Amino acid sequence: MIARFDNSYARLPGALHAGVLPTPVAEPVLIRVNGPLARELGLDPQALTAEIAVGNRIPEGASPLAQAYAGHQFGHFVPQLGDGRAILLGEVVDLNGRRRDIQLKGAGPTPFSRRGDGRAALGPVLREYLVSEAMHALGIPTTRALMAATTGERVYRESALPGAVLTRVAASHIRVGTFQYFAVRRDLDSLAALIDHVIARHYPGLSAAENRALALLDAVMAAQARLVARWAGVGFIHGVMNTDNMSVSGETIDYGPCAFMDAYDPGTVFSSIDEYGRYAYANQPAIAQWNLARFAETLIAFLDPDRDVAIRIATARIEAFPALYTDQWTDVFRRKTGLATTEPGDTDLIHALLDAMHVARADFTLTFRRLSLGEEPEELGGWIGQWRERLAREPQAEGTRRAMMQSANPAYIPRNHMVEAMIQAAVERADYAPFAEMVGVLENPFREQPGMEAYGQPPGETERVYRTFCGT
Ligand code: AMP
Ligand code: MG
Repeated sequence: MIARFDNSYARLPGALHAGVLPTPVAEPVLIRVNGPLARELGLDPQALTAEIAVGNRIPEGASPLAQAYAGHQFGHFVPQLGDGRAILLGEVVDLNGRRRDIQLKGAGPTPFSRRGDGRAALGPVLREYLVSEAMHALGIPTTRALMAATTGERVYRESALPGAVLTRVAASHIRVGTFQYFAVRRDLDSLAALIDHVIARHYPGLSAAENRALALLDAVMAAQARLVARWAGVGFIHGVMNTDNMSVSGETIDYGPCAFMDAYDPGTVFSSIDEYGRYAYANQPAIAQWNLARFAETLIAFLDPDRDVAIRIATARIEAFPALYTDQWTDVFRRKTGLATTEPGDTDLIHALLDAMHVARADFTLTFRRLSLGEEPEELGGWIGQWRERLAREPQAEGTRRAMMQSANPAYIPRNHMVEAMIQAAVERADYAPFAEMVGVLENPFREQPGMEAYGQPPGETERVYRTFCGT
């Protein structure tokens, strides 16, 4: 890899990370290199070999390390997590001047592995590759997938599975949990360095703010409101919204048991480990707010010299999150329903649609897509009439509106039953054709693709997927 690395995280105080090299594997084989992303990063896709993808060869200029972090997992605080199976090679500045992390996920144990083997299984690697790239094509901030490769070694979970490594690209891998790690240790020097680093890297406009920690809290809250509202717009359920899986840059990170909803039901939960539905579709904004409260707590010492004042400031900010979120959500669903102007009854109209969809168990993606194609799904009953009445007061021409709606309502999302079938083909038969085809279709989710109709259809009775597994 001929990359100009510039490893700003490695230059931060030592408490934030531990240097560690990937553990070589037996027989690396490339599954896929993301050509357009490689070029965006200023890399020659041809130079991205299997040896690099699994960490057997370390590119010149890399400074491999594991990041320290903590986190609340399902509400319980774990003071030490950290990169247990991910190794940051370093950062490159891309063709657009954006600094990006390049990380190998599944590259072997690190000082933060606890009892884990530091490895990843093929299925979850393919899922993350496919879903993160699909999210990007859907216009949703996300980490990206640069490469996937098999290791030629087995990993042992419930059974022996083929091992693989994913090369993940991110604006950064700094999480709410990264801040928590230092806050719980009362390591204010490291926290101060982290705040400076995050502001310089993700929110440079704030460097002159009077209260930088408060400005950072506001910026991270705004980015999360925007992100989680966009998830809602495509029926995405993250599945493990732990504070260690919430990036302060506002990108979607950590595709574990994530899944997209088929039939609309706000209570939808897929993750097998989410017993109580903490991370159900409709709970995502409340969980984002809860996580942001944990983030605010880490900043208390920097918000105001008087602790009580600091707590009052932070509390007021966190209490304002629902309004921030609602604005973002309304924007998203306004575009989905073709409303270019604003009227007081719009939110009710949108909720009435969702209620009708819920009652009818209508497919989320397909219903919005059909509306954007000018169809009138029968199961929506009287709602269509209300909508038509409202549209009559819109200045936009029908054609313009349909175009706007079609660019907000995808024809294709990574449907769970298709994702599962794709993984099964790869893991059980080493057949990567479904993976390649699906990645290709999802590169253009808003455009109908003749011959690919199956990707736009909800699962049949027997195909429906009810549970997804982390598969770590
Ligand atoms: P996750 O559920 O993927 O967000 O991971 C939670 C924590 O467990 C992180 O600190 C991971 O690095 C760690 N972890 C997950 N799987 C493994 C593994 N196979 N080996 C070592 N650490 C792991
Ligand atoms: Mg994680």
